[in-house]
Amino acid sequence: MSNCLFCKIAAGEIPSSKVYEDENVYAFKDIHPKAPTHVLVIPRKHVATLADCDDPALLGTLMDRVRHIADAVLGLAGGYRVIINVREGGGQEVYHLHIHILGGRKLPF
Ligand code: AMP
Ligand code: ZN
Repeated sequence: MSNCLFCKIAAGEIPSSKVYEDENVYAFKDIHPKAPTHVLVIPRKHVATLADCDDPALLGTLMDRVRHIADAVLGLAGGYRVIINVREGGGQEVYHLHIHILGGRKLPF
């Protein structure tokens, strides 16, 4: 999508602090971190929200990469939280599917 912030970040058209990338997925530091480690994992393909994603293989790839990034890239083997905000009621602000990884401190529920 030509006017999507996260499509532009994945394409390198807008700068970001990259932590991981492969052919399907891009991951970068959240600009307003809510924990010592706060990373966003996005598909390169534009999908507006989790509710709009009808591609089970893509969702599987994303969750597998979240697991890999949290452990092998971010060193969060001791634990972390995964959040997906969905649409307005879920507090979603950027309409390109993204998975938050939060860690580095004890996270109260
Ligand atoms: P959400 O509320 O789930 O849509 O989360 C959007 C997240 O994107 C927020 O945590 C923002 O801090 C983050 N964000 C917005 N713009 C940028 C940016 N240019 N680089 C990195 N993170 C961003
Ligand atoms: Zn997009």
